Amino acid sequence: MIDKNLYDAVIVGGGPAGLTAALYLARACYRVLVIEKEKFGGQITITAEVVNYPGAEPQSGTELTEKMRKQAESFGAEFLLAEVQGLDFSEEVKRVRTTRGEVRALGVMLATGAHPRMIGFRGESEFKGHGVAYCATCDGEFFSGKEVFVVGGGFAAAEEAVFLTRYARHVTVLVREEDFTCAREVAEETRANPDITVLTNTEVVSVEGDSMLRSICYRNNKTGEETHFRPENGDTFGVFVFAGYEPSTELVKGLAELDAQGYVRTDFSNQTSREGLLRQATCA
Ligand SMILES: Cc1cc2nc3c(=O)[nH]c(=O)nc-3n(C[C@H](O)[C@H](O)[C@H](O)COP(=O)(O)OP(=O)(O)OC[C@H]3O[C@@H](n4cnc5c(N)ncnc54)[C@H](O)[C@@H]3O)c2cc1C
Repeated sequence: MIDKNLYDAVIVGGGPAGLTAALYLARACYRVLVIEKEKFGGQITITAEVVNYPGAEPQSGTELTEKMRKQAESFGAEFLLAEVQGLDFSEEVKRVRTTRGEVRALGVMLATGAHPRMIGFRGESEFKGHGVAYCATCDGEFFSGKEVFVVGGGFAAAEEAVFLTRYARHVTVLVREEDFTCAREVAEETRANPDITVLTNTEVVSVEGDSMLRSICYRNNKTGEETHFRPENGDTFGVFVFAGYEPSTELVKGLAELDAQGYVRTDFSNQTSREGLLRQATCA
């Protein structure tokens, strides 16, 4: 008799990584269940046009990942919309506790993705998506002809500041440290750009506005001097934060070994330190 709740593999996370793993596992004749807590397709469903997926015509993230889901389904993969809240690896058959009941599996694959790290200045959460952004490719165009601030001193901040000059009237980069922390050549290109001003030893204190941003306050962390910026004529502006990524690995804290940034450590075959727990990550 078939045990309905027992799977060869349960995949936690239904983004491009989880859907890709499901396709391969299902095609290899494993009984596989993908569990997704928000929307099948993951983060890329937010974007209106994906143009860099090899062999695929430009299309929305939702369209692209819906095709991935259907492809996995055609090989027998199953899907459950629920949040995985706990994993019990105490026995050979693992227990996966979800908001819609428990399922059991011989192996669990973690494909829960990673999110841009927030810095924590006043107003950051409130104006996320309303002036505070984390992806230049996605949101840069919304700030055409406007002032833009880039927060961060690493590779992403230096590179994306240059990219944002395509749209912005002017870009000001706020670097917390004495200097950029990325490769010197990358930093030099940013500094040399006439449309970019770089302020070092500078941290954002707060942002304010109504439905969009209207003012920003930043502080020189050496002198303590604060600057209040407000665009002329009541215009809006943008703040792009590039402070690295935060992996969604809460679920396996204490279960598998994580590195200093919170990413799950794996070997070359994606096996974690916990037998039966694998990790899958991808870029669409
Ligand atoms: C606005 C935007 C535009 C982008 N545009 C592009 C682009 O044009 N081209 C490109 O290559 N990349 C783009 N990216 C990046 C791309 O989205 C990511 O590289 C990709 O989504 C990563 O896939 P993933 O499956 O590893 O993670 P995710 O897409 O983050 O998927 C992880 C999934 O796991 C789920 N999950 C997490 N925890 C649990 C849990 N406990 N229980 C159940 N489910 C859980 C989450 O809800 C999520 O759906 C874009 C990203 C964004 C935000």
